[in-house]
Parts: sequence; structure tokens; C-alpha cells
Amino acid sequence: MARYRGAACRLCRRERMKLFLKGDRCYSDKCGIERRNYPPGQHGQRRTKVTEYGRQLREKQKVRRIYGVQEKQFRSYFAEADRRKGVTGTNLMQILESRLDNMVYRMGFANSRTEARQLIRHGHFQVNTRRVDIPSYLTRAGDEVAVREKSQKVTAIVGALENQASRGAPKWLEVDATAFKASVKELPAREDLTMPVEEHLIVELYSK
Ligand code: SF4
Repeated sequence: MARYRGAACRLCRRERMKLFLKGDRCYSDKCGIERRNYPPGQHGQRRTKVTEYGRQLREKQKVRRIYGVQEKQFRSYFAEADRRKGVTGTNLMQILESRLDNMVYRMGFANSRTEARQLIRHGHFQVNTRRVDIPSYLTRAGDEVAVREKSQKVTAIVGALENQASRGAPKWLEVDATAFKASVKELPAREDLTMPVEEHLIVELYSK
């Protein structure tokens, strides 16, 4: 499936919640959800009955859109989560959280996961002193992510760090903004992830 190139706000409106896909705009009153909190399209304001399958599908699509993952890759993450010990849904969320683009966003080096992906692709980051330009790279507990020395003046990174100072970083990360680096203390436990996601619906969907 081709990469989605349409308006990001449509995706939030479809899921009827803020997915924070656009950085600063998401915190302003220009946010699409603030202005039109109903699904996009001609029939967006119709009242429709949602089936159990519909709920499961929407939940899967929502999580895919939050992390910017294509269906095929999402399926392979699910297969990996299912293979691992423990609760499949929690494993899935941990795998998604450990993606480098998500980590860069959570650490505050980018304003959104989309921006993080682009910065990573442009080679601005290193993991444990090695340059990594693959957004789907999976980080592990103990890994150190740093902005490469020659990239420490990139406007997008400097601006994002200023914004992050007011928002704060999650407790499973240790961020040293002045040194342009951060480390993964541990992968987040399920209770650390505050997004309203019902991952058991995704497990039910893929277990049919
Ligand atoms: Fe979603 Fe951000 Fe657009 Fe609001 S501004 S609808 S949170 S992408």
C-alpha cells in the first residue's frame, strides 16, 4: 500500500481524537479536531451504528496512524508481539514505542513522529555512537540516542527542544537537552502509556 499523502488532520477526525500528527498546530486552536470534531467527508456527520468489527478495525487504524506504520509492517509487529512472552497487546505497544522515530519524538528532538522520521532519514541521529538513518530501527533499554555533532544547529531540532522543555519527557527516558542526547532507561510499562488505546481490540481483530 502506498504511503498516505493526504491531510493529517483528516486522520484525527476519522478517529475522532487528537493523534498529534502535526507538532505545534496540535496544541493550538487551529487543530482540526477543535474546529470540526466529526469524521471527514460528505457523510461525516451522519449517525451510524458501529459493529464490534468496526470498533476493532478503528482501534487498529488509530494505533497505526499514531505511529505512522503501514499495514504490512504493523502485521509483522503483531506477529513479533505474539511470539514474545507476556501479554500480546502490551508487547505490541512496547515494540511500537521502541521505534527510533517514536523515541526521537518522545525525547523532544522533533515536534511530531513525522518530523522525527524525516530528521532520521536525513542522518541527524546516532544510536550508541553509530549513525542510524532508519526510522523503524528498534531501540532497546540502555540505548543512547544523540543528535550528531554537525546537526546540533538544525533549526527543527533546536526548536523542538525548546518546545519539549515546557512539555517534559516521559519518565522512562533520561534527556540531556544541553548535550543533545537522551537514553532509554527502560521500555515503558503499559501504565506509562497514557494514550487512550484499547489494544485488546487489535488482538481480537488479528486473531479472527
Ligand atoms: Fe490531529 Fe494535530 Fe491536526 Fe489536531 S492539528 S487534527 S491533533 S494532526
